[in-house]
Amino acid sequence: MTYERSRVEIDLDNFSHNIQQLKRFLSPESGFMQIVKADAYGHGAYEIATKSIKMGACFLGVANVEEAMLLRYRNITTPILILSPCFTNEIENIIEYDLTPAISSFNFAKELNKESEGKKTKIHVDIDTGMGRTGIHYKEALTKIRAIRQLKNLEIEGLFSHYSSSESDAEFTELQNQRFYQIIECLSIRAKYIHIANSAGVVTNNYRIENLGLSSKKTNLVRLGLLSYGVYPDQSYRNLIDLRPVMSFKSNICRIKIAKKNDSVGYNRTFNAKRETRYGIIPVGYADGYDYMLSNKGTVKIKGNLCPVIGRVSMDMISVDITDYPAITIGDEAILIDGGGLKPEKVTELYSGLSYELMSQIGRRAKRFYRENDKIIATAPLARREFVSHDFTDKKLNLVIESAISQRLQSKEIANMLYSEILRRFFSDRDRDIYYRKNFRHSVVFKLPESEEIAKRKFFEAETTLCFTKVLQQNYFYVACANLMADLENYFKRRDVEYRWLLDSNFSLSLDLFRVTEVCVNNITLNLTSYKSINDQGHANLEIKCSHPDLDKLVGKEVDFSISTRTYYPRHSKHLPIYITELTKGVDISFHYPNLIDEVEVVTIFSGQSKYPSIIRKKNHLQVISGQDEWVFPNSGIVFSFSSK
Ligand SMILES: *Cc1c(COP(=O)(O)O)cnc(C)c1O
Repeated sequence: MTYERSRVEIDLDNFSHNIQQLKRFLSPESGFMQIVKADAYGHGAYEIATKSIKMGACFLGVANVEEAMLLRYRNITTPILILSPCFTNEIENIIEYDLTPAISSFNFAKELNKESEGKKTKIHVDIDTGMGRTGIHYKEALTKIRAIRQLKNLEIEGLFSHYSSSESDAEFTELQNQRFYQIIECLSIRAKYIHIANSAGVVTNNYRIENLGLSSKKTNLVRLGLLSYGVYPDQSYRNLIDLRPVMSFKSNICRIKIAKKNDSVGYNRTFNAKRETRYGIIPVGYADGYDYMLSNKGTVKIKGNLCPVIGRVSMDMISVDITDYPAITIGDEAILIDGGGLKPEKVTELYSGLSYELMSQIGRRAKRFYRENDKIIATAPLARREFVSHDFTDKKLNLVIESAISQRLQSKEIANMLYSEILRRFFSDRDRDIYYRKNFRHSVVFKLPESEEIAKRKFFEAETTLCFTKVLQQNYFYVACANLMADLENYFKRRDVEYRWLLDSNFSLSLDLFRVTEVCVNNITLNLTSYKSINDQGHANLEIKCSHPDLDKLVGKEVDFSISTRTYYPRHSKHLPIYITELTKGVDISFHYPNLIDEVEVVTIFSGQSKYPSIIRKKNHLQVISGQDEWVFPNSGIVFSFSSK
């Protein structure tokens, strides 16, 4: 049995239920914007955005440009409103990624207008009707909006305001409405979207169906956050709307200990045992988002029992008292947040905290599991950092890539910069030691194995072919097959290894299971010699040395490599990652799969000139192609994810 140290479960069915309930409060003309800021309050911005778009969201709301770019990288094309004020150095990205900024200053609008020459940038003007945070003060709004309207490269697509206390102060909320509507009415031109309500605001009086007067007619968009995630802002809301919890957070007991009477537990000895105390250690602490304020206050559900947190919450661990529940053992599931007694709003009550805060911090180190139609799909956090390979020992190139990537986060045309500056400089004659791959073609074909024995063990047979053009550095190189991730990573570091494969650890490595079928350099078929290499822990890896006497005269020349293997891939893994470990120009990766696999999705994380490779889908075949002459940086990769019957 293996455990995730902690995991967040997101119930997408309950999320849809909440959206449906909230939609019942809307007039037929009203659309909704799904707020997915702060990684969708900790629920996963991409997954929530995708689901809400299916449910009819016409807009997404995020806090800043970077959050929006992450959604654009994953091919989300729905309009995105940036809710917080932007800095002027973010304007390039706003335009490049087709984002909609909230405007609360004329000066920013002027800058945006200047840089939007030749196109119309859509904006939503933020009006401060009493929130007192961002937005143009309502008394100045008319003049300012009229001035903004003169800026010919901008289009005022939306006008909005934000309630300060929709969940608790109906009177002030109504005052904000009045201030807002008055401005809308005085304007001669109506913007496409008029919006003021957050999710609690949707449910408060002025949005009730029976009271379809004011808000619902005057506005045609609402912004759904907290309630869509199944959290009640206040107990009184229970009578108004039926919400279902979306997030739960779980771990497992990893150790059990006994404190004798008067022994203390945890930092600063804030818990002293009044009796002999049996307690469990759970590998989750404030760094996982379990709030420090829950020290000596929180409770954790184990086998249905609520066990009190004893002592301080540490960075990575908490202790819970299980004296009264002798049946609890190591490995038992420990629920920290759930949809029952441990709802975020209940847990935060213990320390007068905020459910918004708890949700957005919880599970920072956890893998997320999404539940939909009774199926659970896990997603490893597909953060960019996962693709940073260690292949580049060459310090210079590392520096180039680092600075280029940080540049890219701030400025738009890294591609141009790459072409005109960096590559030209580093590939000039004095730096001949930097090599890169061209025409990178990688094909992976999954089949059902002929060997019944292996089929029974649920593996696909994988035929892979890798072809590329590169300068030959020595008269030999290796193809390697590792059994452990750590060993694979070591092979990434080695420059004499041109191809590596990770074989599932259920197999013990042998040449039958990882067969190098052919290796050629410029049509010379190389001689292959296999070695077992034993690592420090006594674990075996396979190394196949590829060499040929004729390679001597090709060293230093650009040659065509072709490497073919036949091996196995576990069916349960559901993810096939392919890493781009070297600077590469022109990428073509294809994945052929049998009927047994349905629904192949591909996530591309490309950095470099080609950010959005083309994805071609045919029957039983997916192909990802960048332009022939486009550079792809080493910290790129793609993941094919699939479900198999
Ligand atoms: C966060 C946010 C929302 C969502 O508010 P909830 O209370 O979570 O529904 C709506 N509008 C703006 C401007 C926000 O910043």
